[in-house]
Amino acid sequence: MQWRTYAVGMRVRFRGISVREGMLLRGPCGWAEWSPFADYDTHESLPWLLAAYEAAYEPWPAPLRDAVPVNVTVPAVGPDRAYDIVAASGCRTAKVKVAEQGQSLADDVDRVSAVRDALGADGSIRIDANGAWSVDDAVTAIPRLDRAAGGLQYAEQPCRDVEELATVRRRVAVPVAADESIRRAEDPLRVAALGAADVAVLKVQPLGGVRGCLRIAERIGLPVVVSSALETSVGIGAGVALAAALPELPYACGLATVRLLREDVVAEPLVPVDGLLSTRRPQPNAASLAAACASPGVDARWRERLAAVDALRQDHYS
Ligand SMILES: [Mg+2]
Repeated sequence: MQWRTYAVGMRVRFRGISVREGMLLRGPCGWAEWSPFADYDTHESLPWLLAAYEAAYEPWPAPLRDAVPVNVTVPAVGPDRAYDIVAASGCRTAKVKVAEQGQSLADDVDRVSAVRDALGADGSIRIDANGAWSVDDAVTAIPRLDRAAGGLQYAEQPCRDVEELATVRRRVAVPVAADESIRRAEDPLRVAALGAADVAVLKVQPLGGVRGCLRIAERIGLPVVVSSALETSVGIGAGVALAAALPELPYACGLATVRLLREDVVAEPLVPVDGLLSTRRPQPNAASLAAACASPGVDARWRERLAAVDALRQDHYS
């Protein structure tokens, strides 16, 4: 079994990080990515590892489409930068980060307005608060951002708890999407049981793999948006495999995040053309792998982490 540790810089700080790290595993079906965020403990990193083993050892389910529509992601940048990111993307759907620590609702309004200017009237805008609002903040902010956007497609994870999402959903007209409430929950289906969301965001690594996500999609009874966990093109390939295999795909997916990284581990990165990602499995090449190779210290830290999570996996499945 061949594991490689990568570390690549990010163009914009995202989720509080400026360097993305992870490991790549080469198996009989191709390369796989294991890249749980640094703040995820051994227990929470286990599904991420199951996803990597699935990718390395099992072929992808049969694709139902040969391309997947994707959104451009706009970090919590100023309006000029937001405009440029959207205009350069070629995507017809934009996901705008809001409720960033240290920023105000006015900053969010300016960013969302700039995104509408860049998209024109017929593009779709969704916002993502990553659970940062209280119920009252969300009920104030969402209608204002809906006006600034000239209509929002949905508001993703406005508050932290599932119960709060259910309350916000009853109090605002904009549809609510659940992300962290699915991928960090003991029971991903609770969102549907409580009527807490209109849209389910599914991420392959935190939910334990492509097949696990397909099972959730089948049972949750909500339209699904596949999103990335800021992976390299290898991990994005697993998201594309899921999106390509879903029976219904009514919305653009959040898989156009490779450009947030300064480097990639493949020669031909999985980036959108005209808002579409092609359904293919990108393979690393030696030169790109070498360029993204982590320092010995970072590599040692990841190997230690892998050993701990793999021991947990063997406990669970022995
Ligand atoms: Mg999200």
